[in-house]
Amino acid sequence: MESTTIVPTQDSLTLKKKKQNGLQRLGNYGINMASVKQMVRTKCFYNNYALLVYNKISQADKESFQRSFVRHVTTTLARSAFNVDNFSAYQATAHTVRDRLIKRWNDTQQVHTEATAKRVYYLSLEFLLGRSLDNALLNLGLKESYGEGIEDLGFRMEDVLGQEVDAALGNGGLGRLAACYMDSLATLDYPAWGYGLRYTYGIFQQRLKDGYQVEFPDYWLNFDNPWELPRLDIVIDVCFGGTVNKYTDEVGQVRYVWEGGEPVQAVAYDVPIPGYDTNNCINIRLWSSKPKRQFDLKRFNEGQYEQAVEEQMKAENITAVLYPNDNHMVGKELRLKQQYFWVAASLSDIVRRFKKTQRSFTEFPDMVAIQLNDTHPTLAIVELQRILVDEEGLDWDEAWDIVTNTFAFTNHTILPEAMEKWPVPMFFLQKVEQTYPDDRDLLAKLSIIEEATPQFVRMAHLAVIFKDFVRYFGPEKFENKTNGITPRRWLHQANPKLSKLITEKLGSKEWLKDLRLLKNLEKFVEDKEFQKRWVAVKHSNKVRLADYIKAQTGILVNPNALFDIQVKRIHEYKRQFMNILSVIHRYNTLKKLSAEKSSKVVPRVVIFGGKAAPGYHIAKLVIKLINSVADVVNNDESIHDNLKVKSRVVFIPDYNVSVAEIIIPASDISQHISTAGTEASGTSNMKFVLNGGLILGTVDGANIEIHEEIGDDNIFMFGNLANRVEDLRHAHRYRNVQMDPSLQAVIRDIESGHYGDPRIFSPLINTLTIGKDYYLISDDFDSYLKTQDLVDEAYNKKEEWTVKSILCTARMGKFSSDRAIKEYAESIWNVEPVPVTGVKIN
Ligand SMILES: *Cc1c(COP(=O)(O)O)cnc(C)c1O
Repeated sequence: MESTTIVPTQDSLTLKKKKQNGLQRLGNYGINMASVKQMVRTKCFYNNYALLVYNKISQADKESFQRSFVRHVTTTLARSAFNVDNFSAYQATAHTVRDRLIKRWNDTQQVHTEATAKRVYYLSLEFLLGRSLDNALLNLGLKESYGEGIEDLGFRMEDVLGQEVDAALGNGGLGRLAACYMDSLATLDYPAWGYGLRYTYGIFQQRLKDGYQVEFPDYWLNFDNPWELPRLDIVIDVCFGGTVNKYTDEVGQVRYVWEGGEPVQAVAYDVPIPGYDTNNCINIRLWSSKPKRQFDLKRFNEGQYEQAVEEQMKAENITAVLYPNDNHMVGKELRLKQQYFWVAASLSDIVRRFKKTQRSFTEFPDMVAIQLNDTHPTLAIVELQRILVDEEGLDWDEAWDIVTNTFAFTNHTILPEAMEKWPVPMFFLQKVEQTYPDDRDLLAKLSIIEEATPQFVRMAHLAVIFKDFVRYFGPEKFENKTNGITPRRWLHQANPKLSKLITEKLGSKEWLKDLRLLKNLEKFVEDKEFQKRWVAVKHSNKVRLADYIKAQTGILVNPNALFDIQVKRIHEYKRQFMNILSVIHRYNTLKKLSAEKSSKVVPRVVIFGGKAAPGYHIAKLVIKLINSVADVVNNDESIHDNLKVKSRVVFIPDYNVSVAEIIIPASDISQHISTAGTEASGTSNMKFVLNGGLILGTVDGANIEIHEEIGDDNIFMFGNLANRVEDLRHAHRYRNVQMDPSLQAVIRDIESGHYGDPRIFSPLINTLTIGKDYYLISDDFDSYLKTQDLVDEAYNKKEEWTVKSILCTARMGKFSSDRAIKEYAESIWNVEPVPVTGVKIN
């Protein structure tokens, strides 16, 4: 463990004096600190004096950092300043940044409350935030000065940042989207809150044993978490069970009251989310469950100790763990309890905040927009209706009018097995019945209770059901919104060298807030010097990833090889299986080449990463197969030297946001190869292309829109289109379809025992034969292999490849989450930015 000693230096004292002088002169010249900071951020200095002031301020930042750092080491951490390891340095730095965040966060709430602005609430069961320190430093514009401050004290910034554990309160794309959206909401100055659950254990940690995935609990709260503010004063009772009783009130009105049941407490933990280059700092409120009563005292006194704490255990279990399924519904009662607990606490909080404005409930939709991230929080709709009718005494129709004008919902998947099917109350159908009293058919289709019909009929008619929803609600109630990613985390933070090069070329950092400005890079696409620097940045990112791979897996990879990457949750519809089958095909083809021909082969490193849900056996077998193939390919001594280094296969364990930040900037090509019609969007495709990586993909999800933006020459697309899928599946099911011959050869190779005991893999192989290839691997295989060859060919033309890479980045402006959030704000939420000005920062 490294230790560093901090001693107050004479220097820092003189600095303090210098700073005071500087600030005094600032005052004399009548310069406003905020506007200087603005100049600094946009690197737009009107005169030398501003530059001088800038240098003074960064000194001031650096010095105030060091003072605060030492204070946190000695007081918050109660450590001696003579004994500070990297982890303590991280904690002290984090607490220093946290102090500055809290100030902004408080000011933001105050400004938004005083402005009585309409707020948007983003309800998401998942927020996949990753690490916070680097992000906060960059968004607050403190990275440089604090970086100098920390290096001065004898630490390496990278080591300090590396100490933080990810906040991994999500599974994959849906949770990461929520995190990107919060970054954009903050950056664009919207008055917004997130609401979610504070899981004691986030997504499990993945390790590999004998090539198999093994899961370990994610102990993310075992150390202190500086990025949350426990609000032990904000506690909401959520009731489970009991009965609803009818009574008549003073004015003769029939009313209902909920009585009995077991209350569980929701305790608030607030997570500040700073915007980029703004004072705005918004809040994600995460609820943690706690027993209302610590003990059943009666039982305790009767000596029934275990039973006495039973309720306590049950209550604490509610927010204990994140369900580890991505795009798959498991009907567990505890999951439904999580959903109700979260929704009830959040709505109670939202209503309480609204009531402080003293407005009438008819104005509720003018003050509140609630966005539901997938169906997980749909109980919120019923809960708000219940609060308005039973607790606030509104009549049914009046309440329902408010409810329907408050909520909006986004559907993120079209996979049947991902659709939630909880028995929600029936009021929705009563309304349909009044409108279309004779249409029994429509009633059945819109039913939110599962009908007795066999499930596959419903699956086949999914698209039709949406049409019926449109008929009932009207087309204006349905909109498509293209997802986005935040360029702050996915370029500026993950790829600092590329960010710097882009800023230098474009002359300012404005592109980080207006991603369409990347378009101006096209002007330099033929500039040889620029191309050279572009390639150098990519290369250094590949070296960084190669080092990471060496450290994590022991495998040596060549940074000059083509880096071919598929990282995402392991799922049959995403077809990692097809990828590894094509790796086997390529390996077998290579082995047959003469020494002369093989010297021309493009060396390739095929990189996989991603977690399989613990109960998803087929997905776990895919991981095992990847590792078995890697073992054979990476250790083949039989092939001649020319080939030995041409093929590497790597499975990087424990894919998460921080690992993604290392992997994505290093990609030459990434694979997004879901069966057409199965991936609603995907967001990692956007991250890769933004970082100058090309895509090998199917005509599915956001690949289609990325293709539209970047053009035919800069993307490799293959495979059957969505409109063919139904027919192809039908053919597999009812006719005898011949498997693709290359695929047959690969399957035979696995079955020959080349990659270990083939019996292990039979359930996986069976998905192609007995399972009748539901994801159409056989149908796309030939087109996939041919397109892989085109990739090799294109990669050999180095300069053309570089042009493609630059154009990819230049044309990704549309995919900023800022654009997505503006669209939501303007066409769905009807909320306006409320800048936080006039408050003194630092
Ligand atoms: C972006 C992201 C995802 C989503 O990846 P897709 O390929 O779009 O499914 C999943 N996990 C992490 C950690 C991510 O950053």
